[in-house]
Amino acid sequence: MKRKEFIKTTTAVIAGGVFAPLVSCTPDKQSKNEVEVSERKNWAGNYTYHAQTLHEPNSVEEVQQLVSRLDQQKALGSTHCFNDIADSPANQISTKRLNKVIALDKDEKTLTVEAGARYGDFAETLTEQGYALHNLASLPHISVAGACATATHGSGVKNGNLATAVVSVELVKPDGSLVTLTKGDPDFYAVVVGLGAFGIITKVTLAIEEKYEVRQDVFLDLPLESAVTHFDKIMASGYSVSLFTDWMDKKISEVWIKRRMDEEVSELTDFYGAKPASKNIHPIAALAAENCTEQMGIPGPWFNRLPHFKMGFTPSAGAELQSEYFVPRENAVDALLAIESMRDQIHPHIMISEIRSIAADNFWMSPCYQQDSIAFHFTWKQNTSEVLELLPKIETVLDPFNVRPHWGKLFSIDAKELQSRYTKHADFLSLAKTYDPTGKFKNSYLTKNIY
Ligand SMILES: Cc1cc2nc3c(=O)[nH]c(=O)nc-3n(C[C@H](O)[C@H](O)[C@H](O)COP(=O)(O)OP(=O)(O)OC[C@H]3O[C@@H](n4cnc5c(N)ncnc54)[C@H](O)[C@@H]3O)c2cc1C
Repeated sequence: MKRKEFIKTTTAVIAGGVFAPLVSCTPDKQSKNEVEVSERKNWAGNYTYHAQTLHEPNSVEEVQQLVSRLDQQKALGSTHCFNDIADSPANQISTKRLNKVIALDKDEKTLTVEAGARYGDFAETLTEQGYALHNLASLPHISVAGACATATHGSGVKNGNLATAVVSVELVKPDGSLVTLTKGDPDFYAVVVGLGAFGIITKVTLAIEEKYEVRQDVFLDLPLESAVTHFDKIMASGYSVSLFTDWMDKKISEVWIKRRMDEEVSELTDFYGAKPASKNIHPIAALAAENCTEQMGIPGPWFNRLPHFKMGFTPSAGAELQSEYFVPRENAVDALLAIESMRDQIHPHIMISEIRSIAADNFWMSPCYQQDSIAFHFTWKQNTSEVLELLPKIETVLDPFNVRPHWGKLFSIDAKELQSRYTKHADFLSLAKTYDPTGKFKNSYLTKNIY
């Protein structure tokens, strides 16, 4: 499909893909869109999926047929999770061919996409139409439904995670029937951040707003003492703010401030003792910045500034592991100092950490459920056994702060303890069992952490 067709759209439904997939795909080896390969891994390559068969349906109808026919299965998005959340004992149903833009509704200010569309696939075309989303993750390569299912990414004291833009979802239920859940429906806040437990989401309708430009300013070497003293002001200094540190030398090595040009923007010179960067820089300063979005205060479209990494380039470091822990915002400084006290244990294995704010939301299993939060993210070297040994120690120092982990990253918090930190866990489990009474969408991850 030509991009012009999208541009002409107002409330019309569009058939066909907006962009060709940007990542090369495993070709179909058999009929019925089944792919059998000896070894399939997640994006980071740290997890090998156990599911013997990967299905790549081309349409919602094909998803319905598969879901009703197969006993054990799981939706697979863009494979960016670092754990077994997207695995299944038998079948994975990839959404990568369900990547089309369906409709831009200018009256309702919504965009409907198929579940496997990646944010970077449609962001530019949406902008050409005059619209934008409220936020994007650090990378635009992730699928919409997979990102929302895992409560992925917020960055800004007023910004909720990506799922907060969802207005409605179309779900293939375990019996193969279709249901649409809209904000306000009783099950909506369970199913959207559903950890893949309710069926397969096939379409997502997102709230959009007028397009806007963003400038990105980076400051170097913020003294830790300054970060601690002025934490709330620093985190509120932009629409989206990220603090990067390797926890050494009592400093935050980089502060990335993304500010909307439709809000008041003043020149920042002295930033709490940090100095302005003199060129574009990677969050891991030793890496080249060419994969990163433009900085140096140069305004640009929202989709080219809110992510740290450009579409079409490898995000982050590649061979890595990730963990991320959320604490209530009022505990942020204490949690930061608790992690910093472990710097000598963390440093040998860390590539970079990122600290961000996320506004509270209403999704039952969101780590930010009804709680403004601060996230402490860790990009680890792929030293798997050492990292897995370290995580419980970090979780112990964060234990007093009611810490919750990112569902799509590595963590080791005891399941009962974890469940006790989610006031809606019992309701979520009960609803998951109602939707999926025979456990078609159960996997070892859900069995361990939720069931
Ligand atoms: C380099 C890198 C950078 C990252 N940066 C960030 C970041 O900035 N912020 C952040 O919060 N996270 C970040 N992450 C984590 C990651 O983005 C999320 O966990 C990811 O968005 C999951 O989306 P996915 O499509 O890859 O899902 P997958 O890993 O494929 O699946 C995740 C879960 O979603 C379910 N799911 C997928 N599609 C559907 C569907 N259609 N219907 C129902 N369930 C579905 C799966 O069953 C599974 O349970 C990063 C990861 C990487 C590798």
